[in-house]
Amino acid sequence: MPETEVAETDGPEIDGPQTDGPVTDVVVAGGGPTGLLLAAELRLHGVDVVVLEKETERTRGAGALGMHARSVEVLAQRGLLDRFLPLGRQHPIGVFAGFVHPLPADLDTAHAFLFGLPQSATERLLTDRALELGTDLRRGAGLAGLAQDDDGVTVTLADGGRLRSRWLVGCDGGRSRVRELLGVGFAGTPATVEWLLGEVQVSAAPETVAAAVTEVRRTQLGLGAGPLGDGFHRVVVPADGLAADRSVPPTLEDLQRQLLATAGTDFGAHSPRWLSRIGDATRLAEHYRDGRVLLAGDAAHVHPPVGGQGLDLGLQDAVNLGWKLAAEVAGWAPPDLLDTYETERRPVADAVLDTTRAQTALLADTPGAQALRRLVGELLELPAANRLVAEKISGLAVRYDLGGGHPLVGGRLRDLVLDAGSLYDLLHAGRGLLLDQTGRLSARGWADRVDHAVRTSAELDAPAVLLRPDGHVVWAGDDPDELDRALARWFGAATG
Ligand SMILES: Cc1cc2nc3c(=O)[nH]c(=O)nc-3n(C[C@H](O)[C@H](O)[C@H](O)COP(=O)(O)OP(=O)(O)OC[C@H]3O[C@@H](n4cnc5c(N)ncnc54)[C@H](O)[C@@H]3O)c2cc1C
Repeated sequence: MPETEVAETDGPEIDGPQTDGPVTDVVVAGGGPTGLLLAAELRLHGVDVVVLEKETERTRGAGALGMHARSVEVLAQRGLLDRFLPLGRQHPIGVFAGFVHPLPADLDTAHAFLFGLPQSATERLLTDRALELGTDLRRGAGLAGLAQDDDGVTVTLADGGRLRSRWLVGCDGGRSRVRELLGVGFAGTPATVEWLLGEVQVSAAPETVAAAVTEVRRTQLGLGAGPLGDGFHRVVVPADGLAADRSVPPTLEDLQRQLLATAGTDFGAHSPRWLSRIGDATRLAEHYRDGRVLLAGDAAHVHPPVGGQGLDLGLQDAVNLGWKLAAEVAGWAPPDLLDTYETERRPVADAVLDTTRAQTALLADTPGAQALRRLVGELLELPAANRLVAEKISGLAVRYDLGGGHPLVGGRLRDLVLDAGSLYDLLHAGRGLLLDQTGRLSARGWADRVDHAVRTSAELDAPAVLLRPDGHVVWAGDDPDELDRALARWFGAATG
């Protein structure tokens, strides 16, 4: 592989040979939710991980306010729900373009709720998890440059320091430096509308704020304000056009002015802890991998927060990628395993971008969009339409194209009740799992990578299933030869 050009516009030059220091298995650029969960997933497999986070402390307010069912399942698969659930609230609802509907009662999950938890809390818990498992998290360490060759990647830090690793993953957000340095295209549509976001204190009473928002939204969508439960309000208000530089946050005065223009009052907003701009830019990285460098989370896809799926996408990218990259590091990965990260996850992001575009269009204030909105509102009263949308937004409908076979192949399984315990109890260690109701099958040659559990479940419609560490089914049936082929396909050659 030729050495990738070091595109350093404002970072220090890399000259001469690469660093002589120790070589880390994986450097993760970005200590947001995606990078933190990825680090934890890699540590489950003993991979050395350094996370570089440019900020010395978190500066982004509450961030996302929740996650959908599949992300809750992902946390449950790793035994983390006991930490998360007490801190948040479970809402048995689905949201789509501002419509709020009860989730279908028979949604195929043991976790049928929208989980309300500020992203700041999610990040704190994921930080604890990554550190407990032995991640080397370096704050105040921004990635400034990179160069890759056949054996690894040399990363340059903003302070001139260098780090050598076998792999690098850019989890450094929508304005990803890693993506930019690689020159990976970020095709899509630029922002056409903008909202100002503030986490502020207000002097108006919460009921006054709520009443004003309800009144405005009778005729104009786009205004939102509500308490965050910690003395701050989250306020979102349409901006006065697009900012020339959208990376520059608005001022408190900008927010107050737009509130006055939209709601007739600024609610006495003061003491902001986070001011930001939200746009409807919608973009997808052309590639998720370039040699030894990969992209995940917002670094690979951005879309407006309507529908609230950005955090979900990043967490699920991390769980898809973690075990595959760990397999590469350990040396047992089948030749194309790592490439399945892009072939599986990029279409999922593409589909979310699509749904998000639809939601943004339904929120426009034009008569046509509003007519369409009324129609969609009526359609969502139909159980079948509500189910379709709930399955899409929750992430439960994700099914990777793994080449057919049994109807379960490609999808994930709910947390099945087993004769002893439950399915997700068996996935905590992040290994493959042969769930065998027959007691006649074997994964002996893969015992170092795959657990074999002889258990039964009234909820499982197959004699046996083989699950990957991310909980997706790669084989179902009772034919031992087919099983061996699936084990070799996903977990490499048998040993012993
Ligand atoms: C107002 C708002 C509401 C939202 N609501 C929801 C919601 O309800 N549900 C949902 O699912 N999503 C929501 N989202 C989206 C969600 O917040 C993002 O999708 C999520 O934060 C992406 O996580 P990430 O780890 O991929 O990237 P980020 O959270 O952006 O993390 C990237 C990290 O990389 C660091 N970094 C950047 N550059 C460098 C560098 N060069 N070197 C080292 N570190 C670097 C950054 O400091 C940051 O910590 C919302 C977003 C906004 C703005």
